[in-house]
Amino acid sequence: MNVTHYKLSRQTIPLLVPCPPKEPHDGIANFYIEKTPHGHRSGPRIRLVTQKDLRDAELRKTLDQRELDLLIGAVMLRHGLEKRDEHERRHGFEKLMPWLDPGLNSAGLLDHFAGVPGHAVIKLSRAATQLVEDARLVLWFWPKQQRFTPAVYCPSLKTALFINSLLGRIRVCPYCATVFTTEKKNVDYCCTAHRDAHRMARWRAKGKAAKRRDR
Ligand SMILES: [Zn+2]
Repeated sequence: MNVTHYKLSRQTIPLLVPCPPKEPHDGIANFYIEKTPHGHRSGPRIRLVTQKDLRDAELRKTLDQRELDLLIGAVMLRHGLEKRDEHERRHGFEKLMPWLDPGLNSAGLLDHFAGVPGHAVIKLSRAATQLVEDARLVLWFWPKQQRFTPAVYCPSLKTALFINSLLGRIRVCPYCATVFTTEKKNVDYCCTAHRDAHRMARWRAKGKAAKRRDR
């Protein structure tokens, strides 16, 4: 039986966030009605999330260190799973453990979680889904284009950043954990030197893991 899967294209669904007063906005949240003491009105002014919001410096303004670790850990864990890279999964779990299981942060447990890919699948799916659960699919009238469009409304820029990381727009270098963005598909590292350094570290870690298992 042939099954057709519809594509939810990331290019065509804009991400919207509330816009602080005095900053340039792209419209209002006309998909929400707010109650006020004087009656009802449309939701707050909103703006589109842009590439600029995803730059490292902007991320650091929006997220505190703990939240940044969560985002970095989630990206590393996913990448480490898809690339079958146990060493990267371990780094990802290191960053994520304070969120997943506070208090359970022993080296032995991290090795175990990183070594069994099923842990990454379950823990990442749950954690990532929780992070974006307050986002909503809405129908927005886009004034500049004079048309309706489906959009994802995020009550905070934080949520929008986590959604962007799920969409693969935010990358993390597996070697140094630097956050970067690129539209290219096959760029995994912040620089070629770190690609080589990571391969070496991964190779060494594999040897250590094999020794542990032999004991
Ligand atoms: Zn790097």
